[in-house]
Amino acid sequence: MELTSLSIKELSKKLHNKDISVLDVTKSYLDNIAKKDSEINAFITVTREKAIEDARQAQIQINEGTSSTLTGIPMAVKDNMCTKGIMTTCASKILSNFIPPYTSTAVSKLYDSGAVLLGKLNMDEFAMGSSCESSYFGPVKNPRDTTRVPGGSSGGSAAAVASDEACFTLGSDTGGSIRQPASFCGIVGLKPTYGAVSRYGLVAFASSLDQIGPICKTVEDCALVFDVIKGKDPMDSTSSSRKQENCSEGIDSGVKGMKIAIPRQYLMGGIDSEVKASVLKAIKVYESMGAICEEIDIELSEYAIAAYYIVSSAEASSNLARYDGIKYGYRAEDAVDLSDLYRKTRSEGFGAEVKRRIMLGTYALSSGYYDAYYKKALQTRTLIKNEFDRIFDKYNLILGPSAPTPAYKLGEKTDNPLEMYLGDIYTVAVNIAGLPAISIPYENTTNGLPIGLQLIGKAFDEKTILRGGYVLENDKRTTEVQDGV
Ligand code: GLN
Repeated sequence: MELTSLSIKELSKKLHNKDISVLDVTKSYLDNIAKKDSEINAFITVTREKAIEDARQAQIQINEGTSSTLTGIPMAVKDNMCTKGIMTTCASKILSNFIPPYTSTAVSKLYDSGAVLLGKLNMDEFAMGSSCESSYFGPVKNPRDTTRVPGGSSGGSAAAVASDEACFTLGSDTGGSIRQPASFCGIVGLKPTYGAVSRYGLVAFASSLDQIGPICKTVEDCALVFDVIKGKDPMDSTSSSRKQENCSEGIDSGVKGMKIAIPRQYLMGGIDSEVKASVLKAIKVYESMGAICEEIDIELSEYAIAAYYIVSSAEASSNLARYDGIKYGYRAEDAVDLSDLYRKTRSEGFGAEVKRRIMLGTYALSSGYYDAYYKKALQTRTLIKNEFDRIFDKYNLILGPSAPTPAYKLGEKTDNPLEMYLGDIYTVAVNIAGLPAISIPYENTTNGLPIGLQLIGKAFDEKTILRGGYVLENDKRTTEVQDGV
């Protein structure tokens, strides 16, 4: 087996047994990037020299016995997380020359654990999108089928793991951007509870919805990374001081006695028949493992997309006001006065999707429309949250698909933003309610495209969704061995 296809756990074992060196592993990943990324386009910046230096330091820690599981593991980070001295673009022209003077907390924690940074990853511009086609640096291709999108907005983060260009990555999820690309690329993505991971240094899209989380090859790897990045941060007042349990311990303890809800509404409407069949199969697996699965109603799910796109665009219109050509980033030339400078910089610096969101958000917040749109969306948000609370009074988990379809063709939805928004139907409500959720690759369609299933849990109960995900992952492995895959 290639070094670059190992999980964090497997690689860490080899590094700690001194079967291989951190430098060799790091070079194998850098070689893969050199070989594959001209086609996949997962990376915006490759930090080759830093990676080699990080690898040397990590090897010292391993040799001296001061290492941890992540020491020497090559990672890459979505390009909306600030990294001191390394370009952080948000895949936008407006930040295409931005070099932050500080590092985001989640990335700092990974540096401290000895992980090796390979580079910064491509994404939809300012994390707005579901297909990774709105990047100023060109679209990312899905490694499982390069004629298709990798999902978005953390498409680079998912594609890098799926193509063995990084052992694990960080993504951010405002309305599904970790789970949907993980699902399209056939890997695992964890969106933590709002407040579980510090957002300090994450370039804001919609501050009440954004969360950083890991994208990995296995469920257990997600637990390992989450355990490192989570926790209270004095630099982010919305990070929670609640004591969070270790998620790796007991991850294999099964689902016996758990109550799993399956929302009827998630299996109706535009869902692909093979995706639906996968959910039904997973229900059988859970039941055979001793879980109790019951169909339920989520009445408000049809309003989630509308509420999400109003709230997220309203927050984005405010957050993105800072890009004016004065403080940092791109500045237009030949402006005649200050207003002209603002107008030209923003017209030239932002792409079409970002402009659409700023206009939508500004409209929804403007006087006369605030009550009709923004306030209604917030009220709907409260009702959706209450509905989830009621469900979690009775159930441990909610099971459903991560996306209604497998990965679609590049260009298929770029002319129809509304259709693209509707693809977020199963993911956005989770952010609206601030809950944790995971996408696990389960089966493939008949033409070989991965299908991702989603497990949603109670706030701060990542442990249970990881346990549930572990069961499905192992069932998939057993089935593959039986089928001779
Ligand atoms: N696809 C959603 C959007 O375009 C979610 C994006 C995200 O989670 N960053 O807003």
